[in-house]
Amino acid sequence: MSPFVVPPRSVTVRAPAKVNCELRVGPRRDDGFHDLATVFMAVGLYDEVTVTPSAVWSVRTTGRYAGLVPDTKDNLALRAAKALARRARMAADPVAITIAKEIPVAGGMAGGSADAAAALIACDQLWGLRTDREVLASLAADLGSDVPFALHGGIAVGSGRGDRLAPVLARGTFHWVFALSETGLSTPEVYAECDRLRGDAEIPAPLPSAAMMAALRTGNCEVLAAALANDLQEPALSLRPELREVLEAGLEFGALGGVISGSGPTVAFLTRSAEHALDLCVSLTASGVAPEVKRARGPVHGATVITSPRD
Ligand code: ATP
Repeated sequence: MSPFVVPPRSVTVRAPAKVNCELRVGPRRDDGFHDLATVFMAVGLYDEVTVTPSAVWSVRTTGRYAGLVPDTKDNLALRAAKALARRARMAADPVAITIAKEIPVAGGMAGGSADAAAALIACDQLWGLRTDREVLASLAADLGSDVPFALHGGIAVGSGRGDRLAPVLARGTFHWVFALSETGLSTPEVYAECDRLRGDAEIPAPLPSAAMMAALRTGNCEVLAAALANDLQEPALSLRPELREVLEAGLEFGALGGVISGSGPTVAFLTRSAEHALDLCVSLTASGVAPEVKRARGPVHGATVITSPRD
């Protein structure tokens, strides 16, 4: 390249997937949402979002999940970039967004939310805005319930729609194995199934369990495994009965515990160590019970700039 040609500035941010160690769902509210109490953990499975100045707004996704993600104005990363531009009153500074996707789509691991969080941080850096963290968190909450946590990372308790975060006293690193599914599950459909299964039953206000809080304080993987819980597990299994076989297989192959992640269909297994996670991956893959198996450790940081001309 000629030394006189200035390469386009671009910023790349990576954002993690999440697993819900615990997900408690309250009664359906009048606005159709449910109050939640959830313990999020960010895990080392990442999407990378690159933003580059451009004449027009655009978004494209690369990788094997590309065909499953909208390249229209509905894409959460594009919506996030435009929301930040509006907030900063920047009428004409479009970006081209590229998403290198590793987080399964509609898998209950908040991949779209990770992309939105990454786009907020990337555009903030590209445009040199230095937006206040609280303002970013509030833009994130308007974009989706899981977006604030993708910014935050680590481990946190989510309340409200899951968007109001509180820190948790936690220690240790945990080794997870994720059994993915060929096709996703729609989050609204899983909540609707949850309401259907509950019928007229009286549902208490959701709260994380004392057992979960104690497990995170100890940092002991066996104690955490025993405390894994998800109120959306039965509804997800009701819509996708074959996931029961996946759960049973993981436990049979030695996982310390297993739970459906969020609204599913990803099944998350907790293991003792990195080696144990690898063994479980091999057994699950060889059994053919899941089309794809991944491992990741957690907790990890939230959305983080990895390359920027400002570095
Ligand atoms: P959650 O765990 O937060 O309920 P999920 O992991 O089940 O989410 P996502 O992968 O976030 O689901 O995708 C949900 C829907 O959002 C998909 O049907 C997809 O078409 C749409 N979507 C919009 N933008 C994106 C994006 N950037 N990445 C992935 N999905 C997106």
